[in-house]
Amino acid sequence: MEDCIFCKIVKGDIPSEKVYEDDKVYAFKDLNPEAPIHVLIIPKMHIKSTNEISEENSSSISNLFISVAKIAKILNIDESGYRVVNNCGKQGGQTVEHLHFHMLGGRDLTWPPG
Ligand code: AMP
Ligand code: ZN
Repeated sequence: MEDCIFCKIVKGDIPSEKVYEDDKVYAFKDLNPEAPIHVLIIPKMHIKSTNEISEENSSSISNLFISVAKIAKILNIDESGYRVVNNCGKQGGQTVEHLHFHMLGGRDLTWPPG
């Protein structure tokens, strides 16, 4: 996807603060953190939203889930706890149309989020 900012981040055309990378997944610090730790975990493949998850891209999606535990350990929040959030579509609050998980931690998080 030529004008997708997260595809550009994966390619290195837009700078990012990398936290984790493997052949299918890239994770980097959110530009506007909502918590002391706020990382975005994305598939390298352009998948628009959770609505586009299918058998065809299931290996990217499974890597995305597996990476969550690895990244929590890297960030040292696996014991203290964290929240993983996906926003889908307009009412879900999705602003970037490339599937991503927000990983939030480093403080007590309120629930429900509002
Ligand atoms: P969402 O609203 O769920 O689509 O989340 C998009 C997230 O991407 C927001 O939390 C933004 O702060 C973040 N974001 C947008 N552009 C960048 C960027 N260039 N580098 C890091 N994070 C970004
Ligand atoms: Zn993309």
